[in-house]
Parts: sequence; structure tokens; C-alpha cells
Amino acid sequence: MLSKTLQKAFNDQINHELSSSYLYLSMAAYAESQNLPGFASWLKIQTKEESGHAMKLYKFINERGGRVELQKIEQPPLEFKSPTALFEDVLKHERRITALINKLYELALDEKDYSAQVLLHEFIGEQVEEEATASAILETLKMAGEKGHALIMMDRQLARRGQN
Ligand code: MG
Repeated sequence: MLSKTLQKAFNDQINHELSSSYLYLSMAAYAESQNLPGFASWLKIQTKEESGHAMKLYKFINERGGRVELQKIEQPPLEFKSPTALFEDVLKHERRITALINKLYELALDEKDYSAQVLLHEFIGEQVEEEATASAILETLKMAGEKGHALIMMDRQLARRGQN
């Protein structure tokens, strides 16, 4: 049985993952408005991944005899200054999520909940990847700039995610 403390913390994390999903969808909508279909496609895949994370937590709470309690999701930002600023936000956001997952892991340690720790190992590993990917894209954007050809090349590169 999941402790009440962990149940609350896992429900909070479901909210963070669904909020992430919503944020990425808003970023995708911005990219569509800027005629950047590759960025939009990359961000929509990210949206799906985040709701997948929420569903993993949902399943875990239920399997452990807990109760899933959904919470309010805030409106995400609608506009971004530029594609580079958007990826700065992605990286900042993923760093925040990493910190939240680390906190959740500390709580699972305190509560001596071993199966929660095993589940969270997966999330911790995935955050390393999320931050590395966001950081790599951001660095390329900073290097290549946002004008004309460079941005079109970046859009084409991002369009390839999920195609191989
Ligand atoms: Mg996530």
C-alpha cells in the first residue's frame, strides 16, 4: 500500500507531467504559427512523452492500492520570443522537473518505499536524456542563429525525430 504522503507526492507529479505535456503543446502551437512544422512535430512528440510519464505514475498509484486524484492544470504561456528563447524555456523546464523528481525520490527513500524507488530510477535516467537533448538543440540554435537558412535546416532536423 502506498503511504498517504507518497500518494499525494505522486499525484502532484502527475500534475507536473500533464502540465509539461500542456506546455509543450502550447509551444507546438507557437511553432505552427511561425511556420516551423519540424519544431512543432518535435514538440508534439514531447507532449505525448509527457502524458506517457503521467500515465506511468497513474498506473503505479493504482497498482499500489492508491487513489489517483487529478488537479488543476494552469494555462501555459502562449507566446515565445523566438525559437531559441523557446528552447531556453524547454531546458529550464526540464531542469525544474529533474529537481522535482529528485525530491520525490528523496521522499521514497525516507518512506523506505522500494518499488517507488525502482519506478523513479527510470524517471531519473530519462531526465538526464531530456536535459541533454534540450541543451544540444539550444546550443545548435545559438550557434547557427535564427535567420533564414539556418532555421530551416534546424526545422528539418527536428522533423526527423520519431522517424527512425
Ligand atoms: Mg516528463
